[in-house]
Amino acid sequence: MEQNCFSAAFQYNDHSAMDEIILEKIQQGIIILNERFNIMYLNPWAEKVTLYKKNEIDHIDKMLMTDNQSVMLDIFRSAEETGTYEGELFFKRKSGEIYPVWVHITSSKNNERFPRYILFFLDITEQKRVQMKQKLAEKVLQTTSEGVLVTDANGFIIKVNAAFELVTGYTSEEAIGKNPKILQSGIHGKEFYDQMWSAVLNKGNWQGEIWNKRKNGEIYPEWMNLNSIKDETGNITNYIAVFSDITDRKHAEEQLRNLAHYDSLTGVANRYSLQKRLKSLIRTAEKYNQQMAILFLDLNRFKYVNDNLGHSFGDILLKEVSARIKDLIKNKDMIARLGGDEFIIVLPNIKHAKEGVFMAQKINKALSSPFMLGNREVFISTSIGISLYPMDGKDMETLLSSADKAMFKAKADSSPFEFYHEDMHKNESRRMLLENYLRKALENEEFYLVYHPQIDLQTNEIIGIEALLRWKQAELGHVSPAEFIPLAEETGLIVPISEWLIEKACEDVKKIHLETNKNIKICINISALHFNQMHFVHSIQEIVQRTNINPNYIELELTESMIMPKAKESIDKLVKIKKLGIKLSIDDFGTGYSSLSYLNRFPLDILKIDQSFVRGMSAYKDDSSIVEAIIMMGHRLNLKVVAEGVENKKQLEFLKSQSCDYIQGFYITKPLPLQELTDFLNDWEWQYVK
Ligand code: C2E
Ligand code: CA
Ligand code: CA
Repeated sequence: MEQNCFSAAFQYNDHSAMDEIILEKIQQGIIILNERFNIMYLNPWAEKVTLYKKNEIDHIDKMLMTDNQSVMLDIFRSAEETGTYEGELFFKRKSGEIYPVWVHITSSKNNERFPRYILFFLDITEQKRVQMKQKLAEKVLQTTSEGVLVTDANGFIIKVNAAFELVTGYTSEEAIGKNPKILQSGIHGKEFYDQMWSAVLNKGNWQGEIWNKRKNGEIYPEWMNLNSIKDETGNITNYIAVFSDITDRKHAEEQLRNLAHYDSLTGVANRYSLQKRLKSLIRTAEKYNQQMAILFLDLNRFKYVNDNLGHSFGDILLKEVSARIKDLIKNKDMIARLGGDEFIIVLPNIKHAKEGVFMAQKINKALSSPFMLGNREVFISTSIGISLYPMDGKDMETLLSSADKAMFKAKADSSPFEFYHEDMHKNESRRMLLENYLRKALENEEFYLVYHPQIDLQTNEIIGIEALLRWKQAELGHVSPAEFIPLAEETGLIVPISEWLIEKACEDVKKIHLETNKNIKICINISALHFNQMHFVHSIQEIVQRTNINPNYIELELTESMIMPKAKESIDKLVKIKKLGIKLSIDDFGTGYSSLSYLNRFPLDILKIDQSFVRGMSAYKDDSSIVEAIIMMGHRLNLKVVAEGVENKKQLEFLKSQSCDYIQGFYITKPLPLQELTDFLNDWEWQYVK
C-alpha cells in the first residue's frame, strides 16, 4: 500500500528522469507521507538534515518535537482542509537535537494520483541564530550608554541609538538620512577631518577626541571610535561611530558637587555654598526689608595648636569648634568655614543688631571651655567681627570684607568681638600705597617672572612651566601676588601687566627651547578682567604674531568663575583661541562651580586640581577621594589632569597610583627665575622623581 502510494506519485504524474534528479539534488528536505503519516519517501537533503536514512524511519512522529506532536496533527489536518500549510515548526534530529524548520505542506485528499502529503522543509537554525544575534545586538544598541551612529557607504545616517538621541539632542527621525556633518562643531579644521577619514579608509579605524555640536548649538567633546564595515568582497558597506557616554559621569559629578559644597573636615558649608546662600539671603532681605548680621570668626591660638601639637590635633580642634557653634545656631542661620581657622556665621532676619552681639557672646562662651586634644586640655579664644545688612554693605563682598575688617580690629584690641565702623575704611593706607606704586611698576620694570615646572608622572619628563608673576618694589620689597593681583584687577592695571607678562613668557620659552633643546610648553595665568575684555583674543593673537612663537607651546590657565557666568561668550572666545592652536586649562579646579557636565561644553585640554585638595590628601580621607574623583572624571572628559602643590613623596605616590598625568609643586622645585630654570632643565635628565 505504502509502496503504491509512492509509486502513484511518480507513476501517474508524468514524472520524468528530470523530476527524479530534482528530488535527489534539491537543497531542501522533501518528505512524502501517506494518510497515516507513514513516511513514504525522504530525499537525500532530508536525510542529511534529519540524520535518518530512508529505511531507518517509518513514521513522521519520530521527527517531531514531542510536545509538538498534537500540534503537528492539527497542522496536517488544516493542510488537508485548505490544500497547503506554511509556517515555522520545530523538528527533532535522530541525534535528539531540536531545530527550527520552515515547512510547506501540500495535501491532496481525494486525488489518487497524488501522495497524501508532501512536506517541503528547510533547516533554519542558522537564520534563527543570526536573527537572535541581531535582536540581541539591537537590544544592546538601544540600552548601551554609548552613543552609536551607523551610516551607509555614502556616509548617510541609517541608524542611531537612544544614547545618541540623548547626547546630541537629535531624534532618530531627524538624524536618519542626514550626513553626520550636522554634528560638526566648527572647531576642527579640514585637516583634522582629512586625517580622521584617511585613518578610517586605510586602517579601518580612527579613535580620538572630537568636538561636536548638539542640536541646541552647544559644543561638547566626545571620545569617538569610528570604524568602517566591509563585506566579503572588501567593499565598505557602512561606517559605525561609537562615542563615549556622559550619563554616569553626571552621576559622579553630583557626588563631587556635594563634596565641593561642604567643608570636608568639619562638614559645615564651604566658601562656595556660603556665597550662593548669602547671595540669596541678601535678595530676600532686600525684598522684605529685613536686617541681617554677618559674624566673621577667627580662632586666636589656632596656629599655636597646629605648630605645637600637630595638624591632626588642629583638625580635631576645628571639628569640635564647628560642632559647638552648630549647636548654638538656629535652623535659619548658617555656618560656613572659609578655610583655615576662619568661620562665617550668618544670622538672617534679625530684629535688632543686638542679636549679633548675643550670638558672639554665646559663641565666645561655648568656646571658652577647654578642648580635649589627646590627653591634653587646650584653651582657645576667638575674635569676631560683625557687619550688618543693610547698614554696612548691601552686597556680599562688602558685607564679608566689613566683617573681616571688624574681626581684625577685635583681634588687635584683644576684644572678643567688634562691630564694623565706617572709619575702619580709613585704615586702608597700605592699599592706597600699593595702588600708587603699582601704577608705576610696569614703567619702572619692577615685575619679573618665575617659572614652575610640570612633570609627566609616566615619563618623569618636564613637559611645561607655569609663569608666575613677581613684584619687587623698591620701598616695600617683595609684594605677594596674592596681595597685588586682586588690586591690579580692581584698578584695571592687570590688563597692561598681563599683556606685558604674556609677551615676556613667550619670549622666554623660546629662549628655553633654544638653550635646552627641550620643547616644553608655557602655561600662563589669565586674569578674569583681561579675559573679559572685548579684545582679549585679539591681544593674544597679536602677541603670538609679534613673538613668532608656535602657539602649540602656549597654554592658558583659566578659572571656572571666569568662564562659567557668561558661558556662551566664553565658549566663543575659547573656540577662537583653540583654533589658534593654543591649549586651555582650568586652574584651581574644585574650588568653584566644579560642574563637570557644564565644563564639558568648553573646549578644554587640562584640569588642574586645586592645591588645597592635594594638601589635604594625607590628612583627610575625603580630600583623597575628591582628588580621585576629579582625576577619574577628568579622564572621562578626555582631559589631562595636573595636581598642583605637591610637596612630598607620599602625595606624589598617591597621585601616581591614581593615574594623575602631571604634577607641579615644591617637591620638584620652587618656581625658578629664567636662568636657574634653564640650568635646572639641563640637569634634569640625571634626576628622577624618587
Ligand atoms: P595659582 O595660579 O594657583 O599658582 C600656583 C601658586 O601655588 C603659586 O603661588 C605657586 O608658587 C604656588 N605653589 C606651587 N607649588 C606649590 C607647593 O608645592 N606648595 C605651596 N605651598 N605652594 C605652591 P604664587 O606665585 O604666590 O601665586 C599665587 C596666585 O597668584 C596664583 O595662583 C595666581 O592665581 C596668581 N598669579 C600668579 N602669577 C600670576 C600671573 O602671571 N597672572 C595672573 N593673572 N595671576 C597670577
Ligand atoms: Ca595657575
Ligand atoms: Ca592653581
